[in-house]
Amino acid sequence: MGQRLVAEGCSHYQVGPGPSWGGADKASYAAWQQKLGFSGGDADGIPGQTSWDRLQVPSPNGDNGSRASSPVPDHGITTGYHVPGSHWSLGYHTGADYAADEGTPCVAVLNGSISRADDDPSFGHYLVLRVDGSDFWYCHLSERLVGAGAGVGAGQEIGRVGQTGNATGPHLHFEKRPAGGGFGSDVSPDW
Ligand SMILES: [Zn+2]
Repeated sequence: MGQRLVAEGCSHYQVGPGPSWGGADKASYAAWQQKLGFSGGDADGIPGQTSWDRLQVPSPNGDNGSRASSPVPDHGITTGYHVPGSHWSLGYHTGADYAADEGTPCVAVLNGSISRADDDPSFGHYLVLRVDGSDFWYCHLSERLVGAGAGVGAGQEIGRVGQTGNATGPHLHFEKRPAGGGFGSDVSPDW
């Protein structure tokens, strides 16, 4: 938090900022609230929801609280979207793969809800995260940690990497479709 306050030009720190809350934090936070246009009791140096959200303090895993940097934290794409290949039923890869050890956590990339939690011969154990008009498919899971209907927050662990269904090794197949879209309606898996 302190680093973000400094970056916003609201520093009242003589030293630091440090890990524990102190008077300089309060003074710096009050300066941030004033920068946002708050005054009086709304600029008392005690974080409120609006000013906190606007500050976008990174969480320890590099996320800002409303968007995870990867569906498999600390792992990048190992097979990209739309790569051609005859072993895929549509002749191309319909999502992005994140190879990782069996059991590696998979997290919600955005705040949303679980619209489906089911099994499929190809996708294995899978979950579908619905966010506004989009579905994000998490496939080949070894384990599901949430069920259909659950509300989930960005960065929340919802499943674990596996190789259930049609998979040659443990990885997350991460696919995006319009909400309710069937196989073949995939779009680039951005979020
Ligand atoms: Zn895949």
